[in-house]
Amino acid sequence: MTLGTQAQTVTVRVPGKINLGLSVGPLREDGYHELSTVYHAVSLYDTVTVQPSDSWSVHASGPWGEEVPTDERNLALVAARTLAKRRARKAKVHPVRIDIDKHIPVAGGMAGGSADAAATLVGCRELWGLDHLENDLLEMIAASLGSDIPFLLHGGTAIGSGRGEHVTSVLARGELHWVLWAGEGLTLSTPEVYAECDRLREAAGETPAAPQPGGALMTALRRMDTDEVAAALHNDLQEAAISLQPVLAEALAAGLDLGARAGLVSGSGPTVAFLVGSQTEAIDLSVGLAANGPTGDIVRAVGPAPGAQIIHQRTSPEPTRARPDTDRPGPLGPVIG
Ligand code: ATP
Repeated sequence: MTLGTQAQTVTVRVPGKINLGLSVGPLREDGYHELSTVYHAVSLYDTVTVQPSDSWSVHASGPWGEEVPTDERNLALVAARTLAKRRARKAKVHPVRIDIDKHIPVAGGMAGGSADAAATLVGCRELWGLDHLENDLLEMIAASLGSDIPFLLHGGTAIGSGRGEHVTSVLARGELHWVLWAGEGLTLSTPEVYAECDRLREAAGETPAAPQPGGALMTALRRMDTDEVAAALHNDLQEAAISLQPVLAEALAAGLDLGARAGLVSGSGPTVAFLVGSQTEAIDLSVGLAANGPTGDIVRAVGPAPGAQIIHQRTSPEPTRARPDTDRPGPLGPVIG
């Protein structure tokens, strides 16, 4: 035995996502819709800290902290407990206290709950010393917990298929600048938006085809030309989200009037993402929206952002068996703190 170190607290930073393209296919027998989406992680982050505790608990702070459920419904808690159950026999797994610093709008279509779940999986893997848990297995557990979670482990820009859980990276160079608008007190339930989309399609006599990733969007992303990307942005859920929350049409119109290259509802909404050409345009648009748009939180962000990453950990000495470095699979992201 040699003296090693054991993590005592692990802090993980995780981005929110927007969908650059979202094609919704027919309803499947399992109740989900077949999707083809282009996920894009943006630099609006939650920070999740896990530490050993006598009991399981979750606490939330930050601009959206009050909206986060801190009981058994919290996806971060569900993720920690699921990982503990699956790996309990292989390592020293113990209850954790989870602290979420919440900046991603809650029920905003930016997958904030899924982001916290992804961060918790990465944090608990480190805290519990589950070095043997390969990324593939972590992704499988992630997919069983929620459609967006595998993407939030990866980050970047990626195509999601199935119900969104099958993720393939998109090669895209360069950055896109965004202004995000989240209406004050505005939330939308994802199942209700899908139901509204089905209702609107039925009323119009439309039968959805099998969803495909947009070729024009892929080409635009390869070139990373802002105006080409702007022209190719697409969300099949936008009409349904606007039908349930008409203020979204007002927000979209205000952003476009103020010079955004494009605007679209993020996922199931109600967050609206405006694409602009530079940081200067982003500042101008944020100022304009704050003065002339509907009331809401306005945040500037860039994408693509990296997925869940450990940014800080505190360790304490503990007698542990020495192992060669080669036994350790690489972390999902580099330790940058
Ligand atoms: P979806 O991923 O379903 O599209 P969303 O991105 O619109 O959802 P989330 O912020 O993930 O929105 O919240 C969806 C629901 O999940 C909310 O009703 C919220 O109460 C619940 N929830 C559970 N855990 C969390 C969490 N850690 N952070 C935010 N919301 C959570």
